[in-house]
Amino acid sequence: MTDGNTVNRPVARPGVMAIAPYVPGKSKGSRVRTYHKLSSNETPLGPSPKAVEAYKTAASHLELYPDGSTAELREAIAGAMGINPAQIICGNGSDDLLGMITHAYIGEGDETIFTEHGFLMYRIVTLAAGGTPVVIPETDKKADVDAILAAVTPRTKIVFLANPNNPTGTYLPQSEVRRLHAGLPKNVVLVLDAAYAEYVRRNDYEAGIELVGQSENVIMTRTFSKVHGLAALRVGWAYGPEHMIDALNRIRGPFNINAPGLAAATAAIKDRAFLEAAVDHNAKWLPWLTEAFTELGIEVTPSVGNFLLLNFPEGSGLTAEAADLFLLEEGIVLRRLEPYNLPNALRMSIGSEEANRATVDALARFMKGGGEQAAHG
Ligand SMILES: *Cc1c(COP(=O)(O)O)cnc(C)c1O
Repeated sequence: MTDGNTVNRPVARPGVMAIAPYVPGKSKGSRVRTYHKLSSNETPLGPSPKAVEAYKTAASHLELYPDGSTAELREAIAGAMGINPAQIICGNGSDDLLGMITHAYIGEGDETIFTEHGFLMYRIVTLAAGGTPVVIPETDKKADVDAILAAVTPRTKIVFLANPNNPTGTYLPQSEVRRLHAGLPKNVVLVLDAAYAEYVRRNDYEAGIELVGQSENVIMTRTFSKVHGLAALRVGWAYGPEHMIDALNRIRGPFNINAPGLAAATAAIKDRAFLEAAVDHNAKWLPWLTEAFTELGIEVTPSVGNFLLLNFPEGSGLTAEAADLFLLEEGIVLRRLEPYNLPNALRMSIGSEEANRATVDALARFMKGGGEQAAHG
């Protein structure tokens, strides 16, 4: 290891250079005019018109600092969720919150636990804080509570669980999350990343509000990027015990949410009808797409989110890579999953009716032999 004092330029801490930079979903197809971007789990409905209006109004006061306490947004979230605003903290996207939680609770030598196909940010924030990521195998593309608990050591400080998980779309029922929590030492933080909670329509699912209310070591993160359609503005929030929110408030940037983002998010969370329309659209197309792809011979991992994991047949030449190239030629962009250790799968965000039908249509041609052309031509 090089001593930082003997070289002629600054050297980042070792963990920092171990980070593989996050690669976002591609945003363009190869060369066609129209394209459907289904690579980042963005909503096809866009944001609420009320959120857009609030954003425009905020644009006429750009000389003013935003409200660093985010009081109005926290009140609006608290009202919508029936929780205490003093237990909410807002972040510049939930990625910002994941970073803050990690910086507050781990240091060099500490471990965080997450699962094999868990969200990529957990590794990045762990390494950035000088910690050691411990990655646990999944069972049937689902987090395995017993395997997670078996990996806990005295060095474990945080367990990250995306529920539902991205990119698999699978979820753990409330009973399993509670079993996980009950098995963790009381000093270990359980992060419930519920970025897709609004989409889940299952009686045995709980995003984390109840569990946070009953414990001292659980924090739930949420986002305005997905169902609310405000990914461009970077607004997320977390709900946790007051002592944790207090710790995070000490390390966050004092103005970590911009004013137009605050205004738009506050309007968005109040627009219940728009939220319901977005959830209904998803509930309609999720089963339709699952069935259509299954009929084509593509194995779809059962999803409760706004995206599908498409597993291409093994050993057939009809690989995820060939499918991706084929779709790009058609102007359809899905997400490649090599960084998630799922090299023969693609993730498709549920899009507009037009995008969904176009994707099924293109993959039908691919599966009937078009893949050969894409692979060789
Ligand atoms: C999209 C996503 C987020 C949200 O990220 P933002 O920074 O709020 O845009 C968080 N967790 C998971 C698992 C996600 O897929």
